[in-house]
Amino acid sequence: MSGARDLPGRSWRGQGNGIGLAVGAVHIGPNPVVAVPVAHPGDPQILAAAIETAIADLQALMAAADPHSRNILEFQVEMLSDPAIRDIGSDRADDGTGTVLAWVSAIEDYIAGFESSDDDDICARAVDVIDIRNRVLGALNGTRADDFPAGSIFVGADIAPSLFLTHDWTSGGGIALSAGSTASHVAMLARARSVPMVVGLGPVPLENGMRLMVDGIRGIVLPEPTETDIAEALCSIEITSASAAKSNLPPDGEIKSGMTCLVNIGHPAELAAVSADCAGIGLLRSEFLMSSTADLANEERQYRLYGEALSWAGERPVTVRLLDLGGDKALGGFGANERNPFLGMRGIRLLLAHPDLLRVQARALLRAAVLGNLKVMLPMVTVASEITVTRRIFAEEAEGLARRHVASRMPDIGMMVEVPAAALMLDRFENADFFSLGTNDLAQYLSAAARDSAAASSLYEQTRPALLRLIRQTVAMADMMGKPIGICGDLAGIPDALSELLACGLKQFSVAPQQLAALKTALHHTKTGS
Ligand code: PEP
Ligand code: MG
Repeated sequence: MSGARDLPGRSWRGQGNGIGLAVGAVHIGPNPVVAVPVAHPGDPQILAAAIETAIADLQALMAAADPHSRNILEFQVEMLSDPAIRDIGSDRADDGTGTVLAWVSAIEDYIAGFESSDDDDICARAVDVIDIRNRVLGALNGTRADDFPAGSIFVGADIAPSLFLTHDWTSGGGIALSAGSTASHVAMLARARSVPMVVGLGPVPLENGMRLMVDGIRGIVLPEPTETDIAEALCSIEITSASAAKSNLPPDGEIKSGMTCLVNIGHPAELAAVSADCAGIGLLRSEFLMSSTADLANEERQYRLYGEALSWAGERPVTVRLLDLGGDKALGGFGANERNPFLGMRGIRLLLAHPDLLRVQARALLRAAVLGNLKVMLPMVTVASEITVTRRIFAEEAEGLARRHVASRMPDIGMMVEVPAAALMLDRFENADFFSLGTNDLAQYLSAAARDSAAASSLYEQTRPALLRLIRQTVAMADMMGKPIGICGDLAGIPDALSELLACGLKQFSVAPQQLAALKTALHHTKTGS
């Protein structure tokens, strides 16, 4: 992104993420390139501390409880104090699942044991054990990764999405990266949360505590900015926003017939900025809802967040993508020890290797499906058997919920088309209910150019004809199969690609909330091509 104005000589140029201005003190972050040797996500100490917190909370409640409630609370304290309960997950933790998740899945089995008892009194105790599970998870949620001071400018080679997600950006702040790319996941998050970011700066001599200006519009960073520098940057932002605002948004009725515009989000909080006439949520990246292993293990929290999106949407579709961990989104150790992270255990591969993780999410989704028009989408699908196994796990969890008399519904299950082998063989995926083209990954795997590499990013542009040819074939195959197909990769929001995407036969576009207005305007004006 380049500005019309001259840049102060002391500045460095990179690529901006298109979001305004931040000024703050430099915080030099950890180097994420250094491999973190995490064998087992989750830590027995953390779990033990959470159990102690839960016991202390229950004991505090006991003090003021009536005799009946006191009875229940005593039972819960007794259970949590039992060493056998603390250890129930230890066998599974050793298979690499991690202490916290292993504990949660083991306690699930324990709950199922209570529920299936013929003795009504024992059966009725299940709810108390569910409460214990939730209390411990609540205590675990207080455990956060290392953070940095609010309002600062994070400076480093790159920043992990999990660190971005745990940080409080409400007091401002920005990001300046020597490496990175505007196609990375963290760049998407920064756009969605309106955090100014500049990537690909190369080595810059910055030190902790220096004042730094990050201009995400012009793609520059400037150390020790003067008031004039800041005023000039603000003025250039106003000019850019004013020209963007010139486009008049046509009402939905004027968009070409048969076209659907949806949004991609990472958290229901982003929906506050989405216009009410949007057709729904085409992609909820569920991994962005998680900032710790405790979040991954917390079914109630997931259920609540999916419910928020569904309640916003009413009858409109909400497509929740299963956790796409791995690649540049390692969390709690999942996907952290890969030599080639984008080519290893990522997305559905990782979930099937850690079914306990998938089962928690499946339960939350099956329950949320009752609340609206929920669809579930699998990331990184390569072969059809990945969908078959996932469906089986969903069916087993649905049976478990039914046994517990918990309301649930089986949602449509579709897949991201982002692995070239899957795109080429789409007709083998009869077991998917719908398809969505993930062009960010499809482009990276097709061009063999990593999406987080600033140096290789020009290949994305140069190989677009190959990508479009593959998209055209894929859309034609989906049409022949009679299955819906849309696009949710960033290409959907690039105005100069629109006529080519329409020519490929695409009719459903899902873009970042900030791109929705421009997409609608472009759809109004663009010729379909042939
Ligand atoms: C994609 O790959 O195009 C996509 C939409 O998913 P993500 O960017 O989250 O990998
Ligand atoms: Mg993807």
